[in-house]
Amino acid sequence: MNCGVCGFKLRFKKNIQGEVTGNLIPIYKCMSCKSFFSCLELKNQLTGNLPNNEIDGYLNNEIEVKSRINSLIRQIGIESNIRHKNKFLDIGCGVGWSSTVAKKYGFEAFGVEPEIKAVDFARSELMLNVTNSFFSSDLFEHESFDLIVMYQVLEYLPKISYLKNLITLLDKYDLFRTPEGHINNFTAESTQILAQAVKVEVIGELHNNKFRAKYFPFLGLTSGSYIFRRHLDS
Ligand SMILES: [Zn+2]
Repeated sequence: MNCGVCGFKLRFKKNIQGEVTGNLIPIYKCMSCKSFFSCLELKNQLTGNLPNNEIDGYLNNEIEVKSRINSLIRQIGIESNIRHKNKFLDIGCGVGWSSTVAKKYGFEAFGVEPEIKAVDFARSELMLNVTNSFFSSDLFEHESFDLIVMYQVLEYLPKISYLKNLITLLDKYDLFRTPEGHINNFTAESTQILAQAVKVEVIGELHNNKFRAKYFPFLGLTSGSYIFRRHLDS
């Protein structure tokens, strides 16, 4: 078995007990870019019925999400003007707190979210433009976006084909996060490899957790989010 990021051979590390099922899940490590993979066959991640779970987690993370998007937009420093209204897309947007912030900065905001109840809330309570679906660039065939946010999504998907698909929609910036505790765990090195593979530049990182930002590099782990920029003229 080979690494989904760099193609190097994976080595079995150990079995860990799954939080939901209690089943033992094998963990593999790439000996080159040091990424971890806990599920190599993700056939069902982006297909099948849309989930209809409770959304308390999405409802409760309002302050955290708003703070993160505020920091991001300030860090990038893009503003809409009268001649060009910037477009924002959040993939896996939950109930859409990020879009409410983006709209305040003048963006035209869009979201994609598979959870049915979250989309109902986004539309009826927050009056947002959210598509109830798993993500595919086909959803936005005639659109492009100035800022795309993908928070706690990519680590479910080891194949870079998903990211390539996304980059086609991107006019300028993209942000994704690789946190602890998900199906895959990328490293700073594997993030660079991913960026090169899809021809974008890593222009910065965004850390909401100062503790992790300080200590994770010592442990060889990533922290926070990466900001990619696509250069359309190259
Ligand atoms: Zn690798």
